[in-house]
Amino acid sequence: MGRKRTVITIEKHRWTVVRSCRPSVVAWCERCGGHVRMVTPDQAAELAGTKPRAIYRRVESGDLHFVETGAGTLLICAGSL
Ligand SMILES: [Zn+2]
Repeated sequence: MGRKRTVITIEKHRWTVVRSCRPSVVAWCERCGGHVRMVTPDQAAELAGTKPRAIYRRVESGDLHFVETGAGTLLICAGSL
């Protein structure tokens, strides 16, 4: 029992570290007409409680605001989630 608890604690800790390492990006969203927080499709899926695939589908249907960075990375407007 003690061993199991240790494992859970480590996983929780690692998860927290991973999350805090992700920088939050603020960028101009044309459709919001202002500066908004931009998140990666993975983060967007997490925030919306869905799968990245569903996020891409909403991007394609024009439901979500997004910007494409120079590196070809898609960033989702957190305000449109
Ligand atoms: Zn927006």
